Amino acid sequence: MTDFIEKNGPSSEQMLARDLNVLWHPCSQMKDHENLPLTAIKSAKGAWLEDFDGNRYLDAISSWWVNIFGHTNPRINQAVKNQIDQLEHVILAGFSHEPAIHLAEKLVEITPDGLSKCFYADNGSSAVEVALKMSFHYWRNLGQRQKTRFISLNNGYHGETLGTLALGDVALYKETYAPLLMECLTVKSPDCYHRAEGQSWQDYSRQMIEPMRQTLEQHHHEVCAVFFEPLVQCAGNMRMYHPIYLTLLRELCDEYNVHLIADEIAVGFGRTGTLFACEQGNITPDFMCLSKGLTGGYLPLSAVLTTQQVYDAFYDDYENLTAFLHSHSYTGNPLACAAALETISIFETDNIIEKNKPKSQLIANLSQELVDHPHVAEVRQTGMITAIELCKNKTTKKAYPWQERRGLRVYQHGLKNEVLLRPLGDVVYFMPPYVISEDEIELMVNVAKQGIHLATQ
Ligand SMILES: *Cc1c(COP(=O)(O)O)cnc(C)c1O
Repeated sequence: MTDFIEKNGPSSEQMLARDLNVLWHPCSQMKDHENLPLTAIKSAKGAWLEDFDGNRYLDAISSWWVNIFGHTNPRINQAVKNQIDQLEHVILAGFSHEPAIHLAEKLVEITPDGLSKCFYADNGSSAVEVALKMSFHYWRNLGQRQKTRFISLNNGYHGETLGTLALGDVALYKETYAPLLMECLTVKSPDCYHRAEGQSWQDYSRQMIEPMRQTLEQHHHEVCAVFFEPLVQCAGNMRMYHPIYLTLLRELCDEYNVHLIADEIAVGFGRTGTLFACEQGNITPDFMCLSKGLTGGYLPLSAVLTTQQVYDAFYDDYENLTAFLHSHSYTGNPLACAAALETISIFETDNIIEKNKPKSQLIANLSQELVDHPHVAEVRQTGMITAIELCKNKTTKKAYPWQERRGLRVYQHGLKNEVLLRPLGDVVYFMPPYVISEDEIELMVNVAKQGIHLATQ
């Protein structure tokens, strides 16, 4: 018996029993797992995950949008291995190290012009909190103490900590904790799902700058910053809008003297077809938050890029108490920085942004047939993000009752057929690692199509 286990390793069943005994999983109703077994992954390679029974799953969601160049990527593996024998971690206050310096140089170089300072944290929510505090503190250092509020878009998402939940507007995550949260000003999003029939994305998104103008006009004196997710509201059901909104929003923030904070945590690193989504509106935000794809999906790390102007407002004699005294234990971890540097290097050496174009086109072509499906309200795409929104009634776009959990059926169908899809409610989406091949794209879209047919019967 012992021999058998040693040769073959534990089975999925054994792993799951141990798991449920001690683990509480994120974003999960644990009771679901009475009927819906967890999947314990033993190893992974490229776009594929493998469980303890040898079943394989194509990772169509990049393991929650973090993976960029596949699992156990040889180049990133090697970079982390090299770094680990050199320096695993060191305090970043009063001390520094080469990977943190080199990565900051790189990030300043590749992000929009004008972003010249890099502040590290260790996850996306923390980066948003950093930007939030920095913006508030900037105005305070300038003597503008009346500026204490923030504007964000409806259906937005910025993380799970109290500050970021307050900025977000996804009811499922936020409502329970509402009594604990600061009050933000919520402005209607340019999300083109709501455009009139026949109206162009550009037209609708342009029109939706008006509610922002009104809110800014009324509140600018007390507002520090506008937070937004450029081009795609990912956790908000992959809702999308036109780049014109970025340009108009930048103009408005300049006009009313408030910061513009771009949360590129999900959309950064090529997801929208450009390295950063802000490029498509030709804008430089006052703060840009990066995480998720930053390390290629290897290690937790985040960065807030900002301007010399913001930096200078904190730069003073210590006694004046203007310093930004914020820190996280693993800030700027060298292993994570090494993974990030190699990730950026792959973008450069392998011409990834160009190579993704035919892949994104293939996903669009293969998904096209769903446009006419009687229970598909919309098929939309921005770069390497494609979403298929299911509905009960195609004409009115009326949603299915959420209790029916139609998307969950697509998820289950996917797992039985070698594809990890993880719909957001009833929105099925593809956000694959860029190493995905044409054959794998075909498998991914075909399994999703079958799953959608089954789930909408
Ligand atoms: C995931 C996400 C965050 C939060 O990042 P975590 O690392 O999960 O804390 C913030 N903003 C956006 C747009 C995200 O998609």
